[in-house]
Amino acid sequence: MILLGSTGSIGTNTLKVANAFGLPIESLSAGKNIALFNTQIHQYRPKNICIADINDATKLDMAYIKAQNIRVFFGEEGLLDMIKASQSTLAVNALVGYAGLAPSLVIKQCGKKLALANKESLVNAGWLFADYPITPIDSEHFGLWYLHTARAIHRLCITASGGALRDMPLDKLPFATPAEALKHPNWSMGQKITIDSATMVNKLFEVLEAYWLFGIQHIDAYIEECSAIHALVEFVDGSITAHISHADMQLPIAYALDEQKAKSMRLIPRFDMSALTNIHLKPIDSKRYPVWDLKSTLLAYPKLGIVLNASNEIAVGAFLDSRIDFGSISACILESMRYFDSIKTHTLTDIQDIRALDSEVRAFSASWLHTTRP
Ligand code: NAD
Ligand code: MG
Repeated sequence: MILLGSTGSIGTNTLKVANAFGLPIESLSAGKNIALFNTQIHQYRPKNICIADINDATKLDMAYIKAQNIRVFFGEEGLLDMIKASQSTLAVNALVGYAGLAPSLVIKQCGKKLALANKESLVNAGWLFADYPITPIDSEHFGLWYLHTARAIHRLCITASGGALRDMPLDKLPFATPAEALKHPNWSMGQKITIDSATMVNKLFEVLEAYWLFGIQHIDAYIEECSAIHALVEFVDGSITAHISHADMQLPIAYALDEQKAKSMRLIPRFDMSALTNIHLKPIDSKRYPVWDLKSTLLAYPKLGIVLNASNEIAVGAFLDSRIDFGSISACILESMRYFDSIKTHTLTDIQDIRALDSEVRAFSASWLHTTRP
């Protein structure tokens, strides 16, 4: 298989599952953590590797790479070339952010199975994948897929943990530090998605992800602090079914890699049913999560996901660099969504349109944060 983003949280879990299933790794890619990448290269012996920055080439274990005749690719173009040069029919995209979109499109173009953790691909360009089967690596969407049947569906519901700052007093929230916002209560994930969970942007992304995957517009989300229930489906007949499991990404990853094997063995701890007594579903409060007010606009105009994603990436980057406070992330997104409101009536068709809008929003958001922000 091909694994993009092997050194991240989903990437390392994917390698554990691939190991348990005896799946060979043909191609691996990583960003900046070359020390871990060298270890993975030794352990999994891929035929092709790619790193994001050619300047990190000196950190690679070149003696081993040469001895094993491993082909090395660099940068964004190199990553796309590596996908095209690979024989594997299964590709896991565990990259984070907008950088994952072009690789997803090339995986589609090559006709390979797309196991998609990079939800930003769908947030930015869901319609470009409308005719292509995607296996989602996201606990809520795996849950929805698990519950999905031929019966008529009334609505889809996904859950949110509430993120690291769910109990912080509201008057302190705007000034939360990166260290506080990165302490997720239930999941151990990459930095960006952990911040996206604290602002509730991650749930907006997941609403759009569910919309593009299942083609259903009636989608709600609730806070469920234990991360035991991941998804619920309400059927037209009045029944509701829920997907419950221990919070562990190896379950959705296992199904994405090999459904037959995933069905026949358990990789994650058994769920303790006594924990169900503590479970409550609560509405998402837009006083704590101001971006949540954007949900219905995004479902009515899903291509606004490009504006949401670009402004969020700029703001989260600035927050993690301690250039802005936590409250400014949501303020920047809301301001960008207001400024780009006319996009609702624009026709966005291809990747060039997406790129142009993405750059425009990034420039606007960066300048707003720099100059206008209160
Ligand atoms: P992460 O930050 O832990 O890992 C990202 C990986 O991508 C790393 O290998 C990194 O080196 C690589 N990378 C980052 N930027 C890159 C670039 N510009 N070019 C090339 N490589 C680059 O992130 P993660 O938590 O594993 O999340 C990955 C994706 O999966 C995200 O889209 C996230 O929203 C989604 N997701 C994650 C989880 C989770 O539990 N972590 C759950 C559901 C969905
Ligand atoms: Mg999720």
